[in-house]
Amino acid sequence: AVSAAAGGAAADTRAAHLDAGRPVKERVERLLARMSLDEKIGQMTQPERQNVTLDDITRYRLGSLLSGGGSVPTPNTPESWADMYDGFQRAALATPQRVPLIYGVDAVHGHNNVVGATIFPHNIGLGATRDPELVRRIGAATAEEVAGTGVDWDFAPCLCVARNDRWGRTYESFGEVPELPAQMSTIVTGLQGRRLGGPTSILATAKHYVGDGGTTNGTDQGDTQLSEAELRKIHLPPFRAAVRRGVGSVMITYSSWNGVKTHGHRYLINDVLKRELGFSGFVISDYNGIDQIDGQPGFTPAEVRTAINAGIDMVMVPADWKRFIETLKAEVEAGRVPMSRIDDANRRILTKKVELGLFERPLTDRRYLKTVGSAEHRALARQAVARSQVLLKNDRNVLPLDRRDNKIFVAGKNADDIGNQTGGWTITWQGSSGPITPGTTILQGIKQTAGPSSTVTYSKDGTGIDGSYKAAVAVVGETPYAEFMGDRPGAMGLDEADLQTIERLRASGVPVIVVLVSGRPLDVSAQLPKWNALLASWLPGTEGRGVADVLFGVTRPTGKLPVTWMKSVDQQPINRGDGKAPLFPFGYGLTYRR
Ligand code: BGC
Repeated sequence: AVSAAAGGAAADTRAAHLDAGRPVKERVERLLARMSLDEKIGQMTQPERQNVTLDDITRYRLGSLLSGGGSVPTPNTPESWADMYDGFQRAALATPQRVPLIYGVDAVHGHNNVVGATIFPHNIGLGATRDPELVRRIGAATAEEVAGTGVDWDFAPCLCVARNDRWGRTYESFGEVPELPAQMSTIVTGLQGRRLGGPTSILATAKHYVGDGGTTNGTDQGDTQLSEAELRKIHLPPFRAAVRRGVGSVMITYSSWNGVKTHGHRYLINDVLKRELGFSGFVISDYNGIDQIDGQPGFTPAEVRTAINAGIDMVMVPADWKRFIETLKAEVEAGRVPMSRIDDANRRILTKKVELGLFERPLTDRRYLKTVGSAEHRALARQAVARSQVLLKNDRNVLPLDRRDNKIFVAGKNADDIGNQTGGWTITWQGSSGPITPGTTILQGIKQTAGPSSTVTYSKDGTGIDGSYKAAVAVVGETPYAEFMGDRPGAMGLDEADLQTIERLRASGVPVIVVLVSGRPLDVSAQLPKWNALLASWLPGTEGRGVADVLFGVTRPTGKLPVTWMKSVDQQPINRGDGKAPLFPFGYGLTYRR
């Protein structure tokens, strides 16, 4: 970010907290001493951007805003994001203490709300790379694109340990064992930089604390029934790792632990996260998360007080934020939320704002706008895609494909669809099929990689193939979803259309290579014997050429399963240790030489 034009009262510009030469702690304490209760509560309030006016930001001294998935400016371009951000920031600076706001988005696989941004593989694919340094670089590239549009704060990474593939957020997990998300917490270092405050350093968020991936039946926002020893062993280690890396914020999970909603869990938030793990950043609630503490819609004064006293420092309260402000104020005035708690929350928030350099450089540094979707970042994403591919079957070495003198037939609903290969959390919350943002589809990648002496023919449903082709590639799997919309309590196989597409290819007698674009393992045991090869591509993002790189052996497959692959759905949760053999074990992955 860059500095704002001078404005406001002259006395304010000389205030100690605006003096970059003083130590962070002194600036925060001097600022806190000047702040009214209203100003402090404003810092703890995070509305969604479409629910505030510029005047609201100034009048209510709002400390933060978010764009939830899909809450984007129109037109949705990098420049319009920067303009929107600067408008909001100027309104925040037009206050007596000139405290900048901190703006948060879900950049969970690149700056995924912005049309034209580089979309990296979802976390499950990154877990397959087993490469923490690659993941750190992806974090740094994401931070450049996010910071380039002004935004200061990323609600990522999700450090969930996904224990049941029925869960709609399985693809947000780096893997099913605690060690994988812990290792991949290098993304925090990538997003924030070695320390906060660089020109493209943004605040990271370890989420969702804690146990979100362990709910019964994999139900999103459900109940995680585990002993404390198991919760600590399975779900806590990634957060411990992120705290060690200096993660600036932690988001609370919607889920419950043994029937108690985590948003009101003082032991988990205050005692374990803050005291025991020594987390010194600030805790943010999830979207309307405090509403769920008592199981009734909307929030009550009791829920506000329980959440704040449990240790939540900032509340994501997208629409009903004015009532939140009134409620919290009344609770403080009645002595039910101690002033010391309000001060502690403000210290934590303001410290991160000072460390980020927001006071000195509150506005967008537009030099970094050009990094959004840059060739360099797309090359990194392509490399990550190639590294994330997991080769599960390769009968008679049907792969790699020849680049020369080949005749390839490509089919399947995910072969030529950017929306399908990017998945949920892309442009909109749920994502959607179709050409939603620029990128290279897997089909385009195959065409670009096959040499000039080869032909590549495509039909979506597989019609038109005949026995003259040397190989058929079926790109099938899931279509976009996010959160609870992706829960699959029933069957987890391919849909009818996909099965028919594959059957058409098989009927030609040509060897069939199945490329599975999905956010999790699917139940394919019944069909697998009929397929010559199977490649798990996960949700690769915009750079489909990385899939082609592996199909043609430009890059050797090296990905390893970050999750166990079920033999049948009744094995979910897959890792409960019942001794039944899976289809492919955790860590499985074949390779070939070029
Ligand atoms: C999700 C969070 C996300 C938030 C803001 C919630 O529904 O659970 O992961 O950060 O929305 O978009």
